[in-house]
Amino acid sequence: MTSIQKRLSDLRQTIPTNVELVAVSKFHPIEALREAYDAGQRIFGESRVQELVAKKESLPSDIQWHFIGHLQANKVKYIAPFISLIHAVDSEKLLLEIDRQAVRNERTIPCLLQLHVAQEETKFGFSLEECWAMLQQGTWKDMKGAQISGIMCMATNTDNTDIIRADFETAARFFEDAKNTFFSDLPYFFYRSWGMSSDYLIAVETGANLVRIGTTIFGEREY
Ligand SMILES: *Cc1c(COP(=O)(O)O)cnc(C)c1O
Repeated sequence: MTSIQKRLSDLRQTIPTNVELVAVSKFHPIEALREAYDAGQRIFGESRVQELVAKKESLPSDIQWHFIGHLQANKVKYIAPFISLIHAVDSEKLLLEIDRQAVRNERTIPCLLQLHVAQEETKFGFSLEECWAMLQQGTWKDMKGAQISGIMCMATNTDNTDIIRADFETAARFFEDAKNTFFSDLPYFFYRSWGMSSDYLIAVETGANLVRIGTTIFGEREY
């Protein structure tokens, strides 16, 4: 077993089986992804379009690629033919472009709405009010290609676990309210994507069923 395979296997022991693991492989070389693949990992998360497309071309076709970073509308076309899930949709404009490109590719593209729940100004995402207003306004209901499949967020960057927990709980409450109000008959509204290397255990406790973990599997990234 390689060290990546050992870390992956140790990590899996700590994650309940109903929680899906996205191996966040951004900035790591193909060989690192290959090791994780050989240990059975099939969902990989990338945050840059060019890097994702290059990796996809050199790795097996049964990998499910997730886009986890901030996505510019003009780049959606490069990933629309194959992407399995887009985690961080933070504007209706982006959602509309994903819809358009999904239809062009005769695909459905599952998307998560990114909520800004952290206390920093710098993180992307809808405010709770903006996100609710968009759902209420209802343009998404006519979309044939983009499918709103859940909620994603990042907690405040802090060591204070109370703050992290409160951020995730805010997202969890929003998920429940949105599910009851807009998606009660739409079972694909399902994913709660929160939790990274430093906070995934709190994420799981607060209802995450999709965690995005990089450093714990692959080690530190070189930027
Ligand atoms: C990089 C990244 C992660 C993984 O972070 P680690 O701390 O390496 O686990 C998760 N989510 C998003 C959106 C990221 O950009």
